[in-house]
Amino acid sequence: MNNDISKKLYEESVNYLPGGVNSPVRAYKPYPFFATKAKDSKLYDVDGNEYIDYCLGYGPIIFGHANDDIVADSIEQLKLGTDYGVPSEKELLLAKEVVKRVPCAEMVRFTNSGTEATMSAIRLARGVTGRKKIIKFEGAYHGAHDAVLVKSGSGAAGQPDSPGVPEEATRNTILVPYNDVDALKATIEDHKDEIACVIVEPVMGNIGCVPPKDGYLQFMREITEENDIILIFDEVITGFRLSYGGAQEYFGITPDLATFGKIVGGGFPIGAIAGPVELMSQFTPSGKIYQAGTFSGNPMSINGGLSAFKVLDKDAYKQLGNTGDYLRSGIADILDRLDFNYQINGVESMTQVYFTDKEVYDYETAQTSDLEGFLKYFHTLLENGVFVAPSQYECAFLSIKHTKEDIDNTLAAIEVALKNL
Ligand code: PLP
Repeated sequence: MNNDISKKLYEESVNYLPGGVNSPVRAYKPYPFFATKAKDSKLYDVDGNEYIDYCLGYGPIIFGHANDDIVADSIEQLKLGTDYGVPSEKELLLAKEVVKRVPCAEMVRFTNSGTEATMSAIRLARGVTGRKKIIKFEGAYHGAHDAVLVKSGSGAAGQPDSPGVPEEATRNTILVPYNDVDALKATIEDHKDEIACVIVEPVMGNIGCVPPKDGYLQFMREITEENDIILIFDEVITGFRLSYGGAQEYFGITPDLATFGKIVGGGFPIGAIAGPVELMSQFTPSGKIYQAGTFSGNPMSINGGLSAFKVLDKDAYKQLGNTGDYLRSGIADILDRLDFNYQINGVESMTQVYFTDKEVYDYETAQTSDLEGFLKYFHTLLENGVFVAPSQYECAFLSIKHTKEDIDNTLAAIEVALKNL
């Protein structure tokens, strides 16, 4: 595989962009490939290589790259303007669509990113309860703002907290291991009158893919309710991915607030906070809790979301689940055949293979993985035309455009990559 042009662009980019990229996880060694275009399940690079894409922009592209319906709608919107600075009817329509699908949603505030959504949801929880402390789970990633940048997943996984985050900014963030009922119970008992919210990725997607154990989210719902603590499901990844109504519909647990991003913009930048009127109306201007953004609710992202929801009907989720099962059972067969005792974690269209023989159910167990082995696997997959995110601590995503042929080709590449370890 020839990568000469990517190499040259990267060498020049490091002089102009920190690390040559605009988000850290993209900078794998020796250099990332540079994309020129993407269609359906495929990404294409400057050197003319084609990859079956399981990164999908880190999750949003569930409807497939350059989805024909979304492209057509977006071109029409482009002609109508890209930023109004006043409300438009489509914001109302997208809010109604979110409310229709998501159990906890009665009202929605759109933002420009998942980071903004979780930052504002936490502010709302603190403002409403008058309490300062928040509980987050080890390895959970809720974006790049100070309060949640402690023992964070994704690009920050396994690294110390970032310099520049003052100790004061994280003093009120309490860390708890995921999937551990006793730890959560003890922490809430110790601090119950001080905790504004528990924020959780219902399926952890930033230390690979870690689903909740049976009853864990139910327990979390009960204990937060008993202690008047606001439960926030951070559904930036799981929202409109696990099912039509996200993780809360999938698991049958309704949080107080939910945050979204990625898919909701139909491939354009977006975030959203959703919840009951009683809480959501506390945001400015109807309430006092400040929340704002120049591009919030911008026509391109809102229109993209509306188009995406037309494509993402209930059948789409059935298809995604079946493709996920087919991929996972194919990987399991290969692992069996090659006598590897690695873990396959997954739910619906989210999957990760952990290079460890230990069950992975939280941050600590995820760290038993052989990271160098994973990177070798990643590179062999790449050489064989399959792109997964370049980290053990990310997740492989499926789109509705991934075909049986794509998965069969991917399984063949996985077999080569595992044999090559
Ligand atoms: N929350 C979760 C669960 C995420 O996975 C991410 C990003 O990957 C975020 C929040 C932050 O979203 P954004 O990158 O759009 O700011």
